[in-house]
Amino acid sequence: MTKINLDVVQASIRNVPDFPKPGIQFKDITTAFKKPDLFRFIVEETAAHYRNLGVTRIVGVESRGFILGSALAYKLGAGFVPVRKPGKLPAKTYKQSYELEYGTDTLEMHTDALSPDDVVLIHDDLLATGGTVGATIDLVRKFGVKKIFANFFVELDLLNGSGKIDEQVPVWSLIHF
Ligand code: AMP
Repeated sequence: MTKINLDVVQASIRNVPDFPKPGIQFKDITTAFKKPDLFRFIVEETAAHYRNLGVTRIVGVESRGFILGSALAYKLGAGFVPVRKPGKLPAKTYKQSYELEYGTDTLEMHTDALSPDDVVLIHDDLLATGGTVGATIDLVRKFGVKKIFANFFVELDLLNGSGKIDEQVPVWSLIHF
């Protein structure tokens, strides 16, 4: 049986060239998450990093951020709050637009999703340019929460996404490429 460590997890992530468009090297996390022992390791290692910080809410970004995000909420005894693409959330929402390579995109959160005494851990599967998490931080800030952390399963270091995140928000990723 292979001993699980970060190298094994990294090697289990499938690289799909030219998806969803030419020139993008897509990091496919499904090949890591489908293995029970790897998924357990990923959840345990990530939860261990955020234990004892008083996290009350995991804010997961649609849609791949929901997978590990909900497991982290369970492990940390926190609640789970979804950040969604436009038109998906049924009640009143805050909206935040952000720049893409071509055009803009928008994310939404329910206006009653968080309160000022929350300690929030934002989670997404992957940090690339930082646009998605930047918009998510702007949304979470509307609630005046106590503290915001940001976590990713995978970070693409060359794109320096973490360098674009506000210094007030500590960033930590399990796997780096
Ligand atoms: P960004 O806003 O540039 O940091 O992009 C992060 C979001 O886009 C995350 O929700 C990722 O799921 C997705 N994403 C961006 N680049 C990749 C990639 N190379 N492989 C997989 N997902 C990606």
